[in-house]
Formats: sequence, structure tokens, C-alpha cells
Amino acid sequence: VYEGRIFRIERDRVRLSNGRVVDLEIVRHRGSVVVIPQPSPREVILIRQYRYAIDRWIWELPAGSIDAGEVPRAAARRECEEEIGRTAGRITRLGAWYPTPGFCDERMIFYRCADLKPLTREVARDLDEQIEPRVFTLAAVRSMIARGTIIDMKTVVGVGLISRRGAAG
Ligand SMILES: [Mg+2]
Repeated sequence: VYEGRIFRIERDRVRLSNGRVVDLEIVRHRGSVVVIPQPSPREVILIRQYRYAIDRWIWELPAGSIDAGEVPRAAARRECEEEIGRTAGRITRLGAWYPTPGFCDERMIFYRCADLKPLTREVARDLDEQIEPRVFTLAAVRSMIARGTIIDMKTVVGVGLISRRGAAG
């Protein structure tokens, strides 16, 4: 139906197990990475970003689509550099989940990024991204989630992964 820069849309005629035939519209996506940057075990860096789809500025974990032919871990390193301007000495995979399996096959892979150092070189940023990074304590982020200040689900999931590992994470 549609082939775009980030995803394509297919309309498939599918026979379900009950015998009924339905047309399903599906978003096919290459997958994405979510980065949990930790300057210290008790802190996390979020970015403030304007999201056109919901017409809101929101706080969220850095994230982005995996480029064609790109290894997911390399995408995590790249997004960390592009979105918060820091390079990660240690990148740990925490898991992978489907955010929207009802109509989309995007899978998000979560990485904790630690041993962060400022980048010495300029990085190219996507033109559609206006990003402001800021360091928060995990306690502050948990309270932003509880108050509804954070409304992005991947951020809720990512912070939960870190919290479960404890402060020594
Ligand atoms: Mg992004």
C-alpha cells in the first residue's frame, strides 16, 4: 500500500483459523533500539523532543530505527552519540519487545549504555529531530512516570528494567 522511509504498509488478505477471510493492514518495520544512558548507576539521561504525531513535547529515552544492514548494537551506539552527544564504553542488551503487535511488527531492543564520555566530534542529527538531553536521577524519573509527566511507553519499560536491577545496575 505504501513504502516510506521508516516503514511500509501492507494490506494482506488473510484466512483466520476460524475460516473467515479478512483484510489486515500491517506496518512492517526494520526494528528499533532504545537506549538507556546512565552517567552513574543512580542517573539516566532523557531527551526532550517534539513529537508531531501527538503534537506534544515529551521526555523520553533516546531511540531510533535500525538502519538497513546495521547491527542493533551499533544502532544503539549511534543513537547514543547522535541524540545525547556521548559515546558509550559499555553497552548491555536488556531485552527486546514488540510495542504494538496488533498492527505493527516493529521490535524494540533495549540497551543500557554506561561509561559515557563526551563526544569530541560533531555528529549528524536527523533533520526531523529537535532534541534536548538532560540528566535525571532514577528517583526523579520514577516520580515523573507516576505523575503522568512521562507518557512514552518505551521509557516506562526501559526505566523499569534499570530499576529492577537495583541502583548498582
Ligand atoms: Mg530518535
